[in-house]
Amino acid sequence: MQRLLIVSNRLPLTVQERKGELHIEPSVGGLATGLSSWYKSCNSIWIGWAGITQKKMKRERGIMARLLSENCHPVSISPQDVEAYYNGICNRTIWPLFHYFPLYAEYSEGSWQAYQRVNTAFANVVAGIARPNDVIWVHDYHLMLLPQLLRERLPKATVGYFLHIPFPSFEVFRLLPWRNQILEGLLGADLVGFHTYDYTGHFLDSVQRLLGYDVTTAQITVSNRIVRADAFPMGISHERFAGVAEDAKTQAERKRVRKKLGDCQVILSVDRLDYTKGIPQRLEAFSAFLDRNPKFKGRVTLVLLVVPSRTRVEQYMRLKKQVDGLVGEINGKHGTIGWMPIWYLYRSLSFHSLTALYSLADVALVTPLRDGMNLVAKEYLTTKADGRGVLILSETAGAAQELGEAIIINANDQEDLIRALKQALEMPEQEQVGRNRIMQKRLRRYDIVRWADEFIDKLLHAKGLQREMAAKALTYEMQSKLVNDFQRSDRALLLLDYDGTLVPFSPKPEEARPGTTLMSLIEKLAANPRSDVVLISGRDKDTLERWFGHLSAALVAEHGIWIKDKGGGWETIETLTSEWKEEVYPILESSVDRTPGSFVEEKGFSLVWHYRKADPRLGELRARELINNLSNTIANLNLQILEGSKVVEVKNAGINKGRAALTLMSRAEWDFVLAIGDDATDEDTFKVLPSTAWSIKVGFGASAARFSLSSPSEAISLLTELAGQNV
Ligand code: UDP
Repeated sequence: MQRLLIVSNRLPLTVQERKGELHIEPSVGGLATGLSSWYKSCNSIWIGWAGITQKKMKRERGIMARLLSENCHPVSISPQDVEAYYNGICNRTIWPLFHYFPLYAEYSEGSWQAYQRVNTAFANVVAGIARPNDVIWVHDYHLMLLPQLLRERLPKATVGYFLHIPFPSFEVFRLLPWRNQILEGLLGADLVGFHTYDYTGHFLDSVQRLLGYDVTTAQITVSNRIVRADAFPMGISHERFAGVAEDAKTQAERKRVRKKLGDCQVILSVDRLDYTKGIPQRLEAFSAFLDRNPKFKGRVTLVLLVVPSRTRVEQYMRLKKQVDGLVGEINGKHGTIGWMPIWYLYRSLSFHSLTALYSLADVALVTPLRDGMNLVAKEYLTTKADGRGVLILSETAGAAQELGEAIIINANDQEDLIRALKQALEMPEQEQVGRNRIMQKRLRRYDIVRWADEFIDKLLHAKGLQREMAAKALTYEMQSKLVNDFQRSDRALLLLDYDGTLVPFSPKPEEARPGTTLMSLIEKLAANPRSDVVLISGRDKDTLERWFGHLSAALVAEHGIWIKDKGGGWETIETLTSEWKEEVYPILESSVDRTPGSFVEEKGFSLVWHYRKADPRLGELRARELINNLSNTIANLNLQILEGSKVVEVKNAGINKGRAALTLMSRAEWDFVLAIGDDATDEDTFKVLPSTAWSIKVGFGASAARFSLSSPSEAISLLTELAGQNV
């Protein structure tokens, strides 16, 4: 059975020191609790920090044995590194920045080094445990470098990564001094998961703009691999929370609290003490609500549960003081003898006490300024067996994307909050039940087990596709066979694309001219009397003539419009028109106006819009728009649109590299055919080749070619080997 290695900052078990003795306790937190039964059922091992130094753990050897017996493998981190990594980069840099609090973010090179050290320590432990068929699933912002570190140690491993906090927009992410390292770190995974499509989009945007990799809707091409990115909204353990209606302990606790509260309506607020949660704004809105709606005084109570968190970070200490002060102020201002507007609890509650509050509350007020997901909202709804209760939810919580039937508010808009509170407290029961049933159904279907299963399924699928593509890679053995076939042939045909195949792309097309080594390689291949070289390119014929006209090679220019056979002159394969250019040129020009860095190239019978130098996201967007704008025009003029690598080309219909290749192939007989190309335009060549031909795509991705090579330099070494053979 395939093993699953879950890797997260904390293990699901924490070692605690009390009165000089070590104890093992379950860790708090959604992931550990939610996955506890699932991970036990699927042959897994959990790797993480146990909350205590190795030195202390060694004192009691039994502790280590107990952790291992629960399939928990601890990673040891020195106290200094815990401080700099966890309290430093994690909680003082990444957390505030990714939650759109850039002013709170601190950038310390020393802490960053600790972050690298800890990620490396994790990589070493995982690499020591992993076996070839294992699936490795890395979690959260503490371990963003780990996927790449694992890829270096275990190149073939199946690695998934899930980020539990938001991925911010490019404008915010780019503030991070180590932004490229973080992105490269994540791209070591085969699948990168986020809670929402927005976060996925932000990540892809940053990868494209900062690293310049090719990005489509859900995948990134990273040299010889494809990395997928997708949204998987994390659910909660349905059975754990749905069962509380029948749970005797929870119901007894609920009765006890209800007695204390009397018969007033209850608004519940539950969060860790964190500046991202918007607790002060919420309190101020509640106070303003009471000012504005005095009839609710004495009839409504806000139960404010605040769980202590990161108590050693300064912002958290300041926030604690602010919340304490506000609660005192509001209770002092509105309270009466016999009625306290806010019940304030600063501690963590047991499961039964927490679920008793959920099941009792008429309204859950969940108004974070920014939250990756927010599980409290989902837990509240799931406990509501009779369907009553109202959820007020901030639009900037990831959960809002799934819980659209809640009252959705902007947490910064006090008026919105006041309106929402009134609406919630006055909402008819029938409406409450109507809204909640829809959301409850969704939460039941997509619970935490489904979330985890779906992530693993997608990861295995991504790996499968990766393997399929890797299987196409031209292996050493296959290359030897190719060279052998070439050697034994009487007449060989080499159809070679130029840009992206023999030379890498450069921002300006004119800069990618062939160097002396490449020229002498092509010369050598072309000079061989038993091999015919065809340079089959999208370039204009004048450029090809200038560069290669003197060689004993055939040339195909402008994706098949022009052909020059070996020793012959330039010919077009049919009567072509170019009057249409007048009509099409302005459409391309308007794309240039709206896309800085792009330009139009005019060739004999085609027009090309180039956008390699433009902002990648804008370029893609404008390319889609341009194709859309052109579609009506081209239908009437018998033209076609060709999408190459960062180009959109318009030309007469029915012309492509494949047709040119066929024309040339009809003129002689070859017993060895090799075609090498890199982009969509070369697919037309691959498709018309005889089944015995060798076809090679340079780069990864779907292709009609039988084999692949990862870069132009690999294509060059293959051709160099052929040039060294005496045919
Ligand atoms: N929680 C808890 N004890 C408490 C209060 C809350 O265990 O006294 C749990 C709650 O059930 C929820 C988690 O803390 O699962 C909070 O998760 P959420 O996604 O809402 O916020 P986070 O703390 O992860 O930012």
